[in-house]
Amino acid sequence: MDGHHVTILEKEAVCGGMAGTFRRGKFRYDFGPHNIHTSHVHLLEFLKKSFGDDFRAYESVTRIYFRNRTFPYPFEGMESLKTLNLIDATLCVWGFFWQRVVSLLKGNFKSDGTYRTWLVSRFGQYFFDIFFGPYTEKVWGVATHELSDIVARKRIPVQSLYALVHAAITRRPKYHPEHSRSLNAYYHRNGSGAITDFLVNEIIKNGGEIINNATICSLIRDNNKIIELKYSNMRGEIQTIQADLSEYIDFTVLSTIPVNQLVLYLGEEIPNEVRQAANELDYAALVLLYLDLDHIDPLGSHILYFSEPEFPFNRISDVGKFSRDMVPEGQTALCLEVTCSVGDAVWNMDDDEIFAMCFSPLERHGLLSRANVLDYHTRRLTHAYPRFRVGYHQRLSTIYEYMETSIDNMWMFGRQGLFTYINTDDAMWMGIQVSSNLPMRNKIGITARDLFPKAFDS
Ligand SMILES: Cc1cc2nc3c(=O)[nH]c(=O)nc-3n(C[C@H](O)[C@H](O)[C@H](O)COP(=O)(O)OP(=O)(O)OC[C@H]3O[C@@H](n4cnc5c(N)ncnc54)[C@H](O)[C@@H]3O)c2cc1C
Repeated sequence: MDGHHVTILEKEAVCGGMAGTFRRGKFRYDFGPHNIHTSHVHLLEFLKKSFGDDFRAYESVTRIYFRNRTFPYPFEGMESLKTLNLIDATLCVWGFFWQRVVSLLKGNFKSDGTYRTWLVSRFGQYFFDIFFGPYTEKVWGVATHELSDIVARKRIPVQSLYALVHAAITRRPKYHPEHSRSLNAYYHRNGSGAITDFLVNEIIKNGGEIINNATICSLIRDNNKIIELKYSNMRGEIQTIQADLSEYIDFTVLSTIPVNQLVLYLGEEIPNEVRQAANELDYAALVLLYLDLDHIDPLGSHILYFSEPEFPFNRISDVGKFSRDMVPEGQTALCLEVTCSVGDAVWNMDDDEIFAMCFSPLERHGLLSRANVLDYHTRRLTHAYPRFRVGYHQRLSTIYEYMETSIDNMWMFGRQGLFTYINTDDAMWMGIQVSSNLPMRNKIGITARDLFPKAFDS
């Protein structure tokens, strides 16, 4: 820790955030599937060295369930073309060419910055209507015309109908360079939380202090420096951490708290437009439904996506397929992800209601049987995905410009701190970058936007 005294304040009883793992009976579960696929070579070497054989490479099988059949995802080989019946395939191709004709007649397709326009112009209206549209609205919980095209540009692995057909014929998909399929996948045999537990132990071993059940609620400033943090403990009592004023030049706050909450902790003095920008940024929440089953490999894949609205969940992952060490012999657990917003009807459903809602289409389609379910239970994530609504980037810039110019001793990073769609490996890599650049922030005012330009490149 380079001579710094480190204190970590964590709201929950355990550290790890969404990358943690929890135990229930003989099962262990991640919060949705958490494998590591990274282009950060040094980080990968570090993980391999730290965990040895416990950190295993594996071949991920990912499929989509669509029109009563499954097919590989991302799209591969003739199998994916065969999945569509003749009428659907004809209408998709017709929709694509019609879109081209419209573009030619009207001049180039006008990009209005929305997800819907971006997709329709590349895949045609029909394919959008039967596939991308319903799936996207399920995952993000937002209408596609309200969503920014950054979601499509960053997250769709094959970037046009032409590329899709090319991939189908040649079996050589041209994935988006950042897509996980271009990288090897690794998984710790005891779940993603084994990695975060290891990091926590390293921090403690090196003299750091961790305070759990500590919810930060206020940041106190003296001119351009944070000099005090207030947090509430598990009894709701307000506690304070203060900078040593004689040397507070070295007091630095590193935050992975959702940035739209953090800025409000600065109190009444923040400008109105910053407050408004913070209130207009939001996150999709997730209810995770776990099903413990009396047999293994019920889906034939690690992850099965469901694009059709009949299924209220986005995808199902098979815990035992990622690692047999997570589940008892001869059994497995599935994790179903249901998007919602904190406080809405789905968020407030009890476990029985969630189970009934999710399980009936699975039974109807003959995918699972109630007789094989040993138990079910849920977990909730309040900040699963930043919602990239049209205009979010301007709001984020308003907050960042204010934070960067008015506070010298704070960094925001991670998925929540930057309001960006990053994975665990990026979050760890950002932690390493921020800690090694600490002196630069204090000396020449380097910021997270300088260090991680790609997170803001939209
Ligand atoms: C369903 C799902 C599947 C995923 N699958 C993968 C995958 O396969 N591979 C992968 O690499 N990544 C995956 N991810 C992404 C991964 O979970 C995130 O990238 C990673 O957890 C981001 O870490 P973070 O620290 O930025 O945010 P978080 O994990 O959200 O951590 C933020 C922390 O801040 C704490 N906190 C918040 N507010 C306060 C406060 N006021 N005071 C104190 N503490 C506070 C929270 O309790 C939490 O511990 C997945 C995410 C989801 C939702």
